[in-house]
Amino acid sequence: MATSPDVAVIGGGVIGLTAAYVLANEGHSVELRDRTDLGTEASWAGAGIIPPGNPDRAATPADRLRAIGSARFPAFAAELRNLTGIDPGYRKCGGIEFLPPHDADVLPLWDHEGIRFARLGRDDLRHLEPIGEVPGDPYHLPDCAQVRNPWLLRALIAACEHAGVRLRPHTPAGRWEFAGGRVTGLRLTTDETVRAGHYLTAAGAWTGFLLEPLGVRLPVRPVRGQIVLLNADVPRHILMVGKRYVVPRGDSRVLIGSTEEPEAGFEKQTTPAAVAGLIRFAARTVPVLAAAAVEKTWAGLRPGSPDGLPYIGRVPGHDNVLVAAGHFRAGIQLSIGTAQLLADLVHGRPPVVPPDAFRLDRPPGAGPKPAFRS
Ligand SMILES: Cc1cc2nc3c(=O)[nH]c(=O)nc-3n(C[C@H](O)[C@H](O)[C@H](O)COP(=O)(O)OP(=O)(O)OC[C@H]3O[C@@H](n4cnc5c(N)ncnc54)[C@H](O)[C@@H]3O)c2cc1C
Repeated sequence: MATSPDVAVIGGGVIGLTAAYVLANEGHSVELRDRTDLGTEASWAGAGIIPPGNPDRAATPADRLRAIGSARFPAFAAELRNLTGIDPGYRKCGGIEFLPPHDADVLPLWDHEGIRFARLGRDDLRHLEPIGEVPGDPYHLPDCAQVRNPWLLRALIAACEHAGVRLRPHTPAGRWEFAGGRVTGLRLTTDETVRAGHYLTAAGAWTGFLLEPLGVRLPVRPVRGQIVLLNADVPRHILMVGKRYVVPRGDSRVLIGSTEEPEAGFEKQTTPAAVAGLIRFAARTVPVLAAAAVEKTWAGLRPGSPDGLPYIGRVPGHDNVLVAAGHFRAGIQLSIGTAQLLADLVHGRPPVVPPDAFRLDRPPGAGPKPAFRS
């Protein structure tokens, strides 16, 4: 059996689902395939932190992509809620970032972008939160926000259905078919073939496997992140300390994250040592959390890239194959900008962000420092 949508999306995480929804709303027939249940990988596992941002003043294309998400998430979440009755849990709870002196070079970036922030004295800090001994200088970011990942994904799946996207979980991509050097089809392991106008590979940490037969070695690798969910009513703000954070969900649940474990490969288990480390971090940061019950622990596989930036664009030599993968620590906040950029590329209209920074064949090495780590 063959299907022939305008766009075939491979991967039903936040990137594939958001792109499918945007493309379908622009009039394309869209089919989305996932090898398993939709929205159950990295996008489900994440903390859902949405840093503040101003797309008109962001310093780099990467910061602009993030800032598009910051600016549009409130309306996008309301749109999904109105359409589907499912609330993605967008909430501007505010954040406190603890910056070590060597990271203070992000302050001019925040300033340039017009992000609201204020350095807190220790007394102001204790007035805001029952904080412990946390290294670094605390900065209040009142416009820092969050979404509830599982709720966002449920809303996106329902919104895609509403927009006419043909959703096909449990249909893994198999092998590409070619004619005259051009991709003419994608065979699925279910014996179906998709013959699409465009193929969008958004398979998170697994995207490299899909692109290898096209002669592309995409250096996207899984980077495991573990999470502990505690039952507690404090703090009220998101607390960010280096690569770790405390995220209050607002319903007596507090999420503690996370590890960065590239060495774990595609292994998605939690480990007693990492869980214990996260609980110690929580108790140091907010001492009353030492007495909090652990409700749940889990891990997810971030799609990591060498410079931390996603790959978004056409596959060299295969014009009808697009990629959107490697969003590492920031796929939720980058999802709306990524979907917009992909829609611009499919339409051939001026892109919302200069796409060069995200091209697949960019040189390796670190780019400019982003204004936020996640
Ligand atoms: C612990 C943790 C904390 C995080 N915190 C944040 C945060 O606070 N803020 C933020 O913005 N981001 C955060 N992230 C990062 C964010 O979750 C990811 O960048 C984002 O989810 C990546 O989305 P994706 O759609 O590319 O990948 P995924 O969600 O992994 O989706 C990829 C999909 O492709 C499917 N697939 C794979 N192979 C195939 C195939 N052959 N055929 C068909 N389908 C296939 C998979 O089954 C999967 O459903 C966090 C991630 C983790 C793990």
